[in-house]
Amino acid sequence: MYRSHNCGELRSSHIDTTVTLAGWVQKVRDKGFVVWVDLRDRYGITQLIFDGERTEKDIFEQAQKLGREFVIQVQGKVIERTSKNPNIQTGDIEILVDKLSILNESLLPPFTIEDDTDGGDEIRMKYRYLDIRRDPVKNSLIFRHKVAREVRNYLSDQGFIEIETPYLIKSTPEGARDFVVPSRMNAGQFYALPQSPQTFKQLLMVAGMDKYFQIVKCFRDEDLRADRQPEFTQIDCEMAFVEQDDVLNAFEGLTKHLLKALKGIEIDDFPRMTYDEAMERYGSDKPDIRFGMEFGELNDIAQHKDFNVFNSAELVVGLAVPGGNSFSRKEIDALTDWIKRPQIGAKGLVYCRCNDDGTFKSSVDKFYDQADLENWAERTGAKAGDLILVLSGETDATRSRLNSLRMELAERLGLRNPDEFAPLWVTDFPLLEWSEDTQSYHAMHHPFTSPKHDQIDLLETDPAAVRANAYDLVLNGNEIGGGSIRIHDRETQALMFKHLGFSPEEAKAQFGFLMNAFEYGAPPHGGIAFGLDRLVAILGGQETIRDFIAFPKNNSGRDIMIDAPSPVDEAQLKELNLKLDL
Ligand code: ASP
Repeated sequence: MYRSHNCGELRSSHIDTTVTLAGWVQKVRDKGFVVWVDLRDRYGITQLIFDGERTEKDIFEQAQKLGREFVIQVQGKVIERTSKNPNIQTGDIEILVDKLSILNESLLPPFTIEDDTDGGDEIRMKYRYLDIRRDPVKNSLIFRHKVAREVRNYLSDQGFIEIETPYLIKSTPEGARDFVVPSRMNAGQFYALPQSPQTFKQLLMVAGMDKYFQIVKCFRDEDLRADRQPEFTQIDCEMAFVEQDDVLNAFEGLTKHLLKALKGIEIDDFPRMTYDEAMERYGSDKPDIRFGMEFGELNDIAQHKDFNVFNSAELVVGLAVPGGNSFSRKEIDALTDWIKRPQIGAKGLVYCRCNDDGTFKSSVDKFYDQADLENWAERTGAKAGDLILVLSGETDATRSRLNSLRMELAERLGLRNPDEFAPLWVTDFPLLEWSEDTQSYHAMHHPFTSPKHDQIDLLETDPAAVRANAYDLVLNGNEIGGGSIRIHDRETQALMFKHLGFSPEEAKAQFGFLMNAFEYGAPPHGGIAFGLDRLVAILGGQETIRDFIAFPKNNSGRDIMIDAPSPVDEAQLKELNLKLDL
């Protein structure tokens, strides 16, 4: 038996019992006449004591030579500590060791295995097995397990069945590139790794499995952005005989359950907002609604007053920064520079101070009198002591810039409280999205999403105006889930492919299997997928997902621990009928 107890378990009630523990040496403190060793395992830290008088000489000497991260087993008696440590659960006791065996030695770890490590990101990823010994990473992985377990239990209780779908499939276009896998037995042919189980879960609906879920790996060969992983995990779900509200209600239930079970938070308010409304009020399809600073459109009150910048703009829009009148001129200039950076690209920033005495002072006083500025304040909800910031220009770009400014200010003003959770449904997304690159329309969600029933005719005349039965779940300004009601008849699906620029032959070659299935009694259906990595990170109070993934890839998509991707040898390529031409 390697251990009778773990290193987080012993309390004063165990005093005088003989125990066996095994674990890693966290720290050795050698005072000459007594040696203390902190022994660590997954469950905690227990202090061992080797004492010049009470411990046998050879064991005492062996203890003096222990190095960090040695794996040891000890037997000894639980005794009361003279100086207790209230910071750890085992802080009342220590083990007076009488047997010590070294199970394995360790090289000196390349960074300290402590909460605040001296190791940088790359080295920690290279030695991830050491990094996971640290509490913050270990606890994040345990937290992830708890989230996944709650998801499984909740959905199972609601009658959902977890069904695995294949990883070696044919490509499903969801907007990203596929990772492809050559087939040795089918020369010149390739599988694709799923970007999501989308078509399979729809086929399961045709098959009558009317409530499906799966916690599943998905793969997308995207240009990597910060905090994206080429493989990630989704909570993937699909339901048959549902309308949009049924799906929203079901997953509102899951979200509330998770917040209650994992954070002890009861959510009463679960607003729903259309995409158009979200863009108008926040300039974003994933607004953080934990704080105000909503947009106020000023066109009717700010245009035609001789200020040409506003007069020539498609949109004039502002927001009130709470308490912002305390910003100095220098701070406002710095904000103006910030928003004029090429990444954001505004041409300028108009401001208006709301003084405590009810007067206003703006950067455009030449064109606007107090009554005008009072209207601005009313529109943006500004109060005395606030600062109104106004941008103008083309509608979409201006909204997006003001959204960047809103989020930046919220960050600076500490309004994004990680302990507060404000979920929101954004519904009725556009069906299609124009791509400047390809000069064509793409499906905004994916090609299986159904248009609003009464808008199908608009596809011919004004495709950009068509709204879809598509929705996102937003939590604290992050999109954590998205889904849609699907097309479930061949004719509409064919029409959709046509508008996406597929010829009938291409549609048949790629999606014949789905269109055929639609001819065998496909029920109305819809679903959603949540990004598990991000959900766990947000519930864990953080916005980076890496620490919640046991073995993440770095920003270039590399696993630097196992050194992947890497070349394969000539023979392997030959067997796969592949020739490299680099
Ligand atoms: N397959 C979609 C995605 O991965 C989710 C869905 O429509 O259910 O985003």
